[in-house]
Amino acid sequence: MSLPPSVHRALVKIVGERGVSVERSVLRDYSHDESSFEPVMPRAVVKPDTAEQVAEVLALADRYRLPVTARGAGSSLEGNAVPSPNGIVLSLERMNRVLEVLPEDFQARVQPGVVYDELNRLLARQGLFFAPGPASGDVATIGGMVGNNSGGLNALRYGVTRDNVLRLQLALANGTLISAGTRALKSSSGYDLVRLFIGSEGTLGIATEVVVRLHGVPERRTAWANFQSPEAAASAVFEIMRTGIVPGALELLDPESVRAVNAVLGLAWPELPMLLMEFHGTPAAIREEGEEGRRVCQEAGALAFRFASDGAEREQLWAGRKAVNRAERTLHPGCTFVKSDVAVPLSHYAQAVHQAHSLAERQALKLMTYGHAGDGNLHTSTAVPSADAEALSRAEALVEGLISFALSVGGTATAEHGIGLAKKRFLQLEHGPAVEVMQALKTALDPNGILNPGKILS
Ligand SMILES: Cc1cc2nc3c(=O)[nH]c(=O)nc-3n(C[C@H](O)[C@H](O)[C@H](O)COP(=O)(O)OP(=O)(O)OC[C@H]3O[C@@H](n4cnc5c(N)ncnc54)[C@H](O)[C@@H]3O)c2cc1C
Repeated sequence: MSLPPSVHRALVKIVGERGVSVERSVLRDYSHDESSFEPVMPRAVVKPDTAEQVAEVLALADRYRLPVTARGAGSSLEGNAVPSPNGIVLSLERMNRVLEVLPEDFQARVQPGVVYDELNRLLARQGLFFAPGPASGDVATIGGMVGNNSGGLNALRYGVTRDNVLRLQLALANGTLISAGTRALKSSSGYDLVRLFIGSEGTLGIATEVVVRLHGVPERRTAWANFQSPEAAASAVFEIMRTGIVPGALELLDPESVRAVNAVLGLAWPELPMLLMEFHGTPAAIREEGEEGRRVCQEAGALAFRFASDGAEREQLWAGRKAVNRAERTLHPGCTFVKSDVAVPLSHYAQAVHQAHSLAERQALKLMTYGHAGDGNLHTSTAVPSADAEALSRAEALVEGLISFALSVGGTATAEHGIGLAKKRFLQLEHGPAVEVMQALKTALDPNGILNPGKILS
C-alpha cells in the first residue's frame, strides 16, 4: 500500500527528497531482517539526518497512526526489525557520527547509526574499546544494540549493552525529545529510564544519541580446548568460572558448528566439542589466568588445550567463532533456520547443553549448539528445508522444549536476541502478570501504538 500523497509530502518536508524512498527495490531491501520471517514491504524508507528530524517524523506518524519500525543494520534474528504491516522504516543509517570521545571519562557520545566495529577501530587509537562484542559487530549499529540489549563475546567480563550505556537521547512517539540517564557512573535519581528503553526493540522510543561506557584495551591471551562431549565442555565452563577467573570471553562450539566453520572458512579445527577462551588483563595476570584455565580444562578432561601462538592465530580463532551463523547459511541454501537463544544459571549450563542434544535426537533433527557459555547463554540452530512443514514443526518443538527447560531452572527464553516476532509466545510464560506492567508502560509511552507494533507485545 503506498503512502497518501499528503503524508509523503510531509515526510519530504522533514527529511528532504533524498531522505524518503518509495522505490520497490529499496523497500525490498528493508523488508526483512536476518530472521526467517517472511518479508513485509514498508510503505516508505525514511532516513533522517538529525534527532530533530526523527522526532518530527514520529510526531507525523503519530498523527496519521502510521507504524514506524526503527532500523540499524537489520541484523536481528527474531523478526525485531521486520517492518510492521502498512508502516514505514525509519533507518538511522545516516546518523553515523562519533560525536565525542572523552578518554579521561572512558566515555563516547555517538549517533545510533555508528557501526560497532567501526567505533572500536576508532577508539583503538586511544587504547579504548566499547565492550559487549556482538558476533555481528561488522554490521550491528549502536542503535540496534540498544534496541536489542545486545550481548556478545565480551559480555561475560564487561556486561551487555545495558551495562555499558550511561545516557540516551530519545525521541518519543509524540515527537518529544528527552534525555535519560547522566554521565556519572552512578545515579539514584528517579526511575532508570535508560535500562527501560534498552532492549525495548524500538517499541517505546527511538535512541537518537547514545553515551557509551568504554574500557581500556587489555592485554589478551587466547586459548582453545577440545573435549569428548559438549556436556564435558560445558562442565569445564562452570569449573573455570568457579576459580574466580572472569575471562574476557568463554565460548562453546559443538562439532556441528566446528564442521560448518571448517567447511566454509577452509580451516582444519579438530571436529570435536570446543571451548574458545580469552584472558584479559595485565601481562602477568593473563599469564597466570591462562595457566589456571589450562589446569582446570585438563582436570575437566580436555583432550587438547592450546594457546594461540600469535596475533594472526588469535584473529583466525575469533573470525571462525563469528562465522558460525554465516557458515550454517552457506551450507544450507534454501533452508529456514529455527533458532534459540536461551540463558540459564551457570550451574545448569551443562544440563541445558545435554537437553538441547537429547531434544534434537528425540525430534530426529541435526542441531548446531554454540554460544557465550561463560554467561550461561546457549544458541541452537536447526536448518530445515523451507517447504518441509513437518520438519519445521519438529524444530519448533525442540525450541519450545529447550525454552521450557531454561524457564524451569530460572533462565530466560532470549538472552540477547530479543523477543521480536519469534519469541512472543514465551513472554507470558517467562514473566506472568509482569507482562501487564509492560503493556501499561507501552500504552503510556505510545498510546497510539505506532512504535514497531506487533513486536514484543501483541
Ligand atoms: C551473524 C550474526 C551474529 C550475531 N551475533 C550476536 C551476538 O553475538 N550478540 C547479540 O546480542 N546479537 C547478535 N546478533 C543479533 C544482532 O546482530 C544484534 O542484536 C545487533 O545488535 C542488532 O543491530 P542492528 O543494527 O542490526 O539492529 P536492527 O536489527 O536494525 O534493530 C534491532 C532492534 O532495535 C530497534 N532499533 C534499531 N535502531 C534503534 C534505535 N536507534 N532506537 C531504538 N530502537 C532501535 C529495531 O526496531 C529492532 O527492533 C547476531 C546476528 C547475526 C546475523
